[in-house]
Amino acid sequence: MSAAEAPICGACFGTDLSLWAEARDIEYFSVPESFSYFQCRSCGALSIFPVPENRLGAIYPSNYYSFAAQSQSFAEKIKEQLDRRIFSSLFREIGGEFMAYFDLQDPQSLADLIMRFLQSGQFPAARDVADWRWIDWHEASAQLAERTVRNAVQAPLAPARPHAHCP
Ligand SMILES: [Zn+2]
Repeated sequence: MSAAEAPICGACFGTDLSLWAEARDIEYFSVPESFSYFQCRSCGALSIFPVPENRLGAIYPSNYYSFAAQSQSFAEKIKEQLDRRIFSSLFREIGGEFMAYFDLQDPQSLADLIMRFLQSGQFPAARDVADWRWIDWHEASAQLAERTVRNAVQAPLAPARPHAHCP
């Protein structure tokens, strides 16, 4: 099997790509080497190049959650549910009002979104993606502070206890 000489866009098969990032697997630490990601100048999609075809078994180990759908134990099932909740809450954090969301347990909610999209021609998100922009560090810090305070206020208070060293 011979690798292609130049990166090719995996989405549109365009050949005009520029290096976007060098990255390593920091979530699972599956392999030590870094990989190069290229961005397509035509469609914007990111592609990895060269595709590490002979390393997929190492990059996607059996504990990789997308491939661990058939959990056996009760504890694993609970962990999987928690992972999904965290994943979807992260997605809402990032995507905000510019994404459309559906309930994984309710396929009809996805079908409804698709039908709305087809009938109206408008992506079924609360806000138009044309209004979307990156936030700067100042805004990101303010958002982090605001959410930290909000979560701290919502967190249940620990029962009051006398200080260990006080009578
Ligand atoms: Zn492309």
